[in-house]
Amino acid sequence: QPYVRVLHLAEKLQVSPKKVLSILINTEIREYNLATKIFHSEIKLVTDELGIGQSIPSVLITRRPPIVSVMGHVDHGKTTLLDSLRNTNVAENEPGLITQHVSSFVVKFEGRDVTFIDTPGHAAFAGIRGRGAKINDITILVVDCCEGVQPQTKEVIRLIKEFRIPSVVALNKIDKDEANIEKTEQELQENGLELMNIPSVQISALRGDNLDILMRLVVTESDGVNLDTDLGGNPFGFILETSKARYLGGLATILPLRGIARLGTIISSGRTLCRIKAILLPSGEKVKEIGPGYPCTIAGWRQGLPNPGLKFISAEKLVDAKRMAKVPANLWVLEKNKRKRQILKKLFLAEK
Ligand code: GDP
Ligand code: MG
Repeated sequence: QPYVRVLHLAEKLQVSPKKVLSILINTEIREYNLATKIFHSEIKLVTDELGIGQSIPSVLITRRPPIVSVMGHVDHGKTTLLDSLRNTNVAENEPGLITQHVSSFVVKFEGRDVTFIDTPGHAAFAGIRGRGAKINDITILVVDCCEGVQPQTKEVIRLIKEFRIPSVVALNKIDKDEANIEKTEQELQENGLELMNIPSVQISALRGDNLDILMRLVVTESDGVNLDTDLGGNPFGFILETSKARYLGGLATILPLRGIARLGTIISSGRTLCRIKAILLPSGEKVKEIGPGYPCTIAGWRQGLPNPGLKFISAEKLVDAKRMAKVPANLWVLEKNKRKRQILKKLFLAEK
């Protein structure tokens, strides 16, 4: 959980440390001194009291989890790999949680959170990335060592190279007798993937062999990626998928990339808007707020459900959101025509 020490906050806000400390002490929440780590809600108390409001955020820069997606040719083991990684999560399958299918989840590895997204429409997400928005930080390219490089493997290699996506190669199905690791490596090289520069690991997604090594490589790769994000800013992110639930109505799984979304936060995407009335973690656990990098499913949508792949933005007030929803300004990211996109973008930025 991101924090700031009392002294540091005072420096950032350019007020006397004593003042900040006295505000905190007056809340009687707990004991404070200048070195106490304080968290978002407490920072908010301080800034509210000081009348600073929303314009504080640089103190709240935090590192979000890296967002990892698994790509590769059909049947090479993507789903199996995601399932094996998900099963390493002990928190899952706890009794009393609302069971649901979500294709994104967070893996804890050596004290670090790593977010995996299973996006059925990889192509759509690649497109978004190509237009400058970043949704996937690291790609795991899965290759079946029995089949070697196949058409979609080549597509992924192209994507990785063109957009310079930090990647890890998972040479899969090494438990099978037919697996030919050397041949597969050679084919990857022939297709322009330099295994000298890109980390790779031999795995069995099915048996779970070497998944710890894979996770370590992913974490190491993520160290080279700028994952700083602003917790204090207005939430924005992407819609991953939508579904319906009996008691909650329309749901959308979102991936926030900035800010903290809370119960009551209003967001809009395309022509739809949502006053968040429930937030569910992939485990099914209900929470009151969610930070960047953590996929979650939210309820409270009005005017239909948003489109997966679209951006969402937050609005301070419902009227703002309604205005934004009327002009589907954030559709600009998806607009193919360059001129049109520029115009839509301008409109979008003006709306903000
Ligand atoms: P996807 O299309 O890339 O999602 O591939 P799947 O995960 O559905 O896997 C395709 C088939 O390969 C399934 O029958 C899996 O059980 C099998 N498979 C995946 N990984 C392994 C592995 O490491 N070893 C073996 N023997 N089979 C695997
Ligand atoms: Mg699959």
